[in-house]
Amino acid sequence: MAGRLSGKRIMITAAGQGMGRAAALACAAEGAEVLATDRDPGLLSDLSASGLTTAQLDVTDADAVARVGAGAGDLDGLFNCAGVVVNGDILDCTQADWDTSFAINIHAMFHVTRAVLPGMLRQADRTGAASIVNMASMASSVKGFVNRCAYGTTKAAVIGLTKSVAADFVQRGLRANALCPGTVDTPSLRERIAGAPDPAQAERDFVARQPMGRLAVVDDIAPMVVYLLSDESRFMTGQAVLVDGGVTI
Ligand code: NAD
Repeated sequence: MAGRLSGKRIMITAAGQGMGRAAALACAAEGAEVLATDRDPGLLSDLSASGLTTAQLDVTDADAVARVGAGAGDLDGLFNCAGVVVNGDILDCTQADWDTSFAINIHAMFHVTRAVLPGMLRQADRTGAASIVNMASMASSVKGFVNRCAYGTTKAAVIGLTKSVAADFVQRGLRANALCPGTVDTPSLRERIAGAPDPAQAERDFVARQPMGRLAVVDDIAPMVVYLLSDESRFMTGQAVLVDGGVTI
């Protein structure tokens, strides 16, 4: 039986671990030809052993983005997953924290999208469909969270960028949606918990804000990426899609 993404070529940023990696594997399992990229090539080696195409890509490196984007050809799908969480309220947030958050979470998304969009539009002209999924968060314009000043600001910008691309290209067959997960158990979340003054309490606090009583696992989120990249979601564009375990009920 054909997979739900058979025949589609999809590029994913930050595919080395966490949700990017789970999405890369889920897309490949549904028949997509996946270009999995990450800043850390060591995290990609077993993906290439599993048959995915991989490329080292730091999304903040404009030259590398242009090179990998050009090499990617005319894509059917793009998952802009790269992002970083910086802790702190507006008074704690240093200029460096603010700049890093913007560089990785939103400026890079602007550059990666610009690099591959002309090819995606050519592909949409040929096939009638192309889809972009941008990683936002429930911590964004959707909802405010303590100590997420730079993070929430940049993830709100992701939703704005997504809606702009969706509006500009809806008539060309290109869709764009933003994905807004709740708290997901990934390597960087584990680092944030381990770095807290009281890690056990920090983990309890993360779980306590999830009404379902647990953190998400990456495989709670990857199916939504598959859906949004597939033609099953063909009537959806410009949406901020929450997969948050009920936080925003
Ligand atoms: P993670 O943070 O554990 O891993 C991030 C990956 O990004 C790593 O493989 C890392 O090498 C890569 N990366 C970091 N900077 C990069 C750069 N400049 N260029 C390319 N790759 C880079 O994974 P995660 O927690 O699944 O986070 C992925 C995305 O999901 C981020 O955008 C994050 O903001 C967002 N998000 C996370 C959560 C959560 O609770 N974990 C919730 C909502 C949204």
